[in-house]
Amino acid sequence: MADREYGIETLCLHAGQLPDPATGARVPPIYQTAAYVFDSADHAASLFNLQTFGNIYTRIMNPTNAVFEQRMAALEGGRAGVAVSSGMAAQLVALLTILQAGDEIVSAKTLYGGTHTQFAFNFRKLGINATFVDSDNPDNFAAAITPNTKCLYAESIGNPANNVIDFEAVAQIAEDNGIPFVVDNTFATPYLCRPFDFGADIVVHSATKFICGHGTSIGGVLVESGKFPWDNGKFPTMMEPSEGYHGIRFYETFGDFGYTMKARCEILRTFGPTLSPFNSFLFLQGLETLHVRMDRHVENALAVATFLEEHPAVEWVSYPGLESSRYFSLAQKYFPRGASAIMSFGIRGGLEACVKFIESVNFLSHLANLGDAKTLVVHPASTTHRQLDEAAQVEAGVMPNMIRLSVGLETIDDILWDLDQALAAARSS
Ligand SMILES: *Cc1c(COP(=O)(O)O)cnc(C)c1O
Repeated sequence: MADREYGIETLCLHAGQLPDPATGARVPPIYQTAAYVFDSADHAASLFNLQTFGNIYTRIMNPTNAVFEQRMAALEGGRAGVAVSSGMAAQLVALLTILQAGDEIVSAKTLYGGTHTQFAFNFRKLGINATFVDSDNPDNFAAAITPNTKCLYAESIGNPANNVIDFEAVAQIAEDNGIPFVVDNTFATPYLCRPFDFGADIVVHSATKFICGHGTSIGGVLVESGKFPWDNGKFPTMMEPSEGYHGIRFYETFGDFGYTMKARCEILRTFGPTLSPFNSFLFLQGLETLHVRMDRHVENALAVATFLEEHPAVEWVSYPGLESSRYFSLAQKYFPRGASAIMSFGIRGGLEACVKFIESVNFLSHLANLGDAKTLVVHPASTTHRQLDEAAQVEAGVMPNMIRLSVGLETIDDILWDLDQALAAARSS
């Protein structure tokens, strides 16, 4: 493509791909191959030494995945990306690239349930300690930083509390301390928010959600901004010869994409959470309409949130796009196109009414996912955040009477009708 600053809609459709040079295929082919033929012994050696760029083995690179990686990097305004097998793997690979036993991370406490478990339980077993802070006050991040802290972590819109972080303030704290700010941008997608524009250094995604858009596939991706100074003395593993990869020095050798090269060649290569090229293909189909879908998701979500706020069976609604939300002004600043389509609300009558509501929805799907073209409902306390005890649930923003809703693309009057009749059933329970 010509050297031009393309709009995000154009990037959704074109970034990272030209028609296939071998066949002229307009759509990125699914390169369903495990390995790639070397030209010669020298060529093979040079590929393994990372002196020549090229394909070796699909566990670490694949041409279909490469289109997805480049498209995501372009959409986020970053330097390079690495596709992986799930959103959980994106966080794992992103963080293991910089953390080792004895290191610490400071994370917002409002997190996707699986992320909280990954940090609090699995990371702790690896000797990596996470401190969870109330992100409403950015100073809490600063206060929790110790000499061992290697990154700050937050979600662009917190799950399931729908809280919005003051990115710029947290990014400034990370910068002052010489550590990267890692943002899970799953809820927002790069169409609604680009964390790099506000000082984040690494972005991770569950591609399973809005990027895929149709609930067909599990996958993830991490992207680096290319701007973090890894040579500031705090990240010896980025600077020193890698024991895990032929003594290569990742930052010195690859510069502004040294972090993603390390992620790919050390962590993805040896831990192995590879994305299937078929899933990449489906994510690329999803990305082609990301901008159109997100506009409609946001429009429908605002209509649903307004409806719920006025509904007598509803105690409270948490959606950062509502003027009544304490996060409204942050959302206006960081998500000018809309605050995504995930919201939570409390049903009067507590747990029993929640169960009745969930069992009474008609075409709304009761399942543990979000960011699908279809409208989805779930009761987090008994499902996604079930691992946490009640005190920890409340701490993570999960109230017993809370329903989480991911608003889809159905006719808005039909969505409102289904919610209304299920709320009527909940009320009479
Ligand atoms: C779903 C989700 C994840 C995990 O992603 P998977 O693709 O299910 O592994 C992580 N973070 C957030 C915010 C999510 O919504």
